[in-house]
Amino acid sequence: MTLHVVQFSGGIGSFGAAFRVAERYGTDNLVLLIADTGIEDEDLWRFADETSRFLGVPLTKVKDGRTPWELFRDKRFLGNDRITPCTKYLKQIPCRKWMREHADPADTVAYIGIENTKKDRARIPAIVRNWEPWITQFPLCEEGEPLTKEQSKAQLLNEARALGVEPPRLYGLEYAHNNCGGTCVRAGMQQWRHTLKVFPERFAYAEAQEAELREMLGDVSILRQRRKGVAYNLPLSELRREHEGAL
Ligand code: SF4
Repeated sequence: MTLHVVQFSGGIGSFGAAFRVAERYGTDNLVLLIADTGIEDEDLWRFADETSRFLGVPLTKVKDGRTPWELFRDKRFLGNDRITPCTKYLKQIPCRKWMREHADPADTVAYIGIENTKKDRARIPAIVRNWEPWITQFPLCEEGEPLTKEQSKAQLLNEARALGVEPPRLYGLEYAHNNCGGTCVRAGMQQWRHTLKVFPERFAYAEAQEAELREMLGDVSILRQRRKGVAYNLPLSELRREHEGAL
C-alpha cells in the first residue's frame, strides 16, 4: 500500500493538500508530518490538532530540538531573508530523517501544499529535485489556472472554515504565512514592522537574540536596507527606532 506523506507545515496550504489527499486515497496510509521549530505560534498547534482530529490522523512530529536562534549561535551564522539554515536544519533534515526511516521511496508519495499561484508553481522543479528520491505531488496546483495569492488564500481559508476547522489566527492578523510565530527571518521588513505592532514582545525577543548574535559575529543582521543603491545591514533595533520615530 502506497504511503501518502503530507508535509504538514501548519499553514493553510498544507491543510488544503492534506484534505485533498484524504479525499482521494482515504486516511489509512496518510501521514501528517510536521516539524517543530520551537518558536511556532501556539495557535499553530491548536490548528494542527484540530486538523488531526478532523482527518482522524495523528500528527507525526519531528524536532531537531534547537530553536532557530539556538541554531544560528551553533552555526555562527544569522539567518536572513536570503539564507535560512533554520529551514534546512530544523525542518528539512528532521523530515528527511523520518522519511528515510519510515517511507520507502518505491512506495511513497510526498505531498507539498504549495498554493496554486504562478509564483508558487515556479518553485515546483526545485522542490521536486530537493525531495528526490521520493516522488512529490502538489495537490493544490492541479486545480486549473493559477490564482492570485489573495484568491488562493481566501479560497483555502473559506474551505477550512466550511469544513469546521478554524484557520490559524496569524492569517486573521494579516500574516501571509503561519510560520515561526511571525518572526520568520526570511520575511521582509514589512512583516517585521507588522510584528512590532502585533506582537511587540516577540519582536523584542528577536531583537535581543539578534543583538546577542551581533555581539558574537559582528555586523550581521536579519534585514538589509538599500540607500542610494547600496545595501546596508539593518538591525531590528534600528527598525524599531525608525518605527518609534515615525509615530
Ligand atoms: S519559518 Fe523562517 S525562521 Fe522558521 S525555520 Fe523557516 S526560514 Fe527559519
